[in-house]
Amino acid sequence: MPKKAEEKIPEIKTAKQLLEEEQKIKRLKTDTPIDELIGGGIREDEVIEIYGEYGVGKTQIVFTLAAKVASEPDGHVYFIDCENTFRPERIKQIAQNKGYNPTEVLTRIHVAQPKDTKEQIGALAAIPKEPKPKLLIVDGVTTLFRAEYIGREQLSPKQQALLRFLRRIKEYARETKTPAIITNQIYANPDGTPFIPLEYRELAVGGHTLYHAINNRIFIRKAKGTTRIARLVDSSEYPQQERPFKITEKGIEPAEGGETHE
Ligand code: ADP
Ligand code: MG
Repeated sequence: MPKKAEEKIPEIKTAKQLLEEEQKIKRLKTDTPIDELIGGGIREDEVIEIYGEYGVGKTQIVFTLAAKVASEPDGHVYFIDCENTFRPERIKQIAQNKGYNPTEVLTRIHVAQPKDTKEQIGALAAIPKEPKPKLLIVDGVTTLFRAEYIGREQLSPKQQALLRFLRRIKEYARETKTPAIITNQIYANPDGTPFIPLEYRELAVGGHTLYHAINNRIFIRKAKGTTRIARLVDSSEYPQQERPFKITEKGIEPAEGGETHE
């Protein structure tokens, strides 16, 4: 039967085939409490978002993951630093304290520091094919968009631009089997409840919202003392769980309980 121009026949697979494909997907172990939240490591084809308030430890988490991945011989990391907070000395400190070779680690982390959203988008096009990164990091994914698209009337174009950026990261992760981690800063309300950024509210853009663009999102909050809590939020794959951690000279490390004093 001739197909209409707007029709395409999708591939049909059995659930068994899908399960077998699923089992072939590799996971990147980060050796941090993050692994336990998402099934033992980051799937090689997925994008994870880490969000939380300023100073909560988002950058420290991605530094720790970058150093771990870069400690392996082919562990190249592509790091897009949108907030100008990349600190090679801190990476070196984490590497030294973890017993990695600091020079090798520093040599395998490739950093782009975009000045505006055009450079941020261009940074994706500049991801090297050789050596292909094992991990893509975008630290502060919304910061430059927020700085450039100001006011309510810019909200919709801002959302669309951000959504395009996120879709490109998702495509890159899926097509090249390179896991990606993005971090996103949110702002607290005066009463302490987290403020959901405007970009995340139910303002549909072509039937989608940013909120739904990413599958696995991890919310970080401060607990007592220097303890932080990482919580997996609204995942379609894994149970909602929390893991406490602390920021130390080794980067991030598991912590006892959630409410303990140091
Ligand atoms: P975010 O990216 O979420 O804004 P950061 O990742 O920059 O936050 O985390 C800042 C926190 O990390 C601060 O509480 C700071 O004390 C802590 N921190 C930074 N460097 C170190 C270190 N070398 N040892 C212990 N804690 C550190
Ligand atoms: Mg940061």
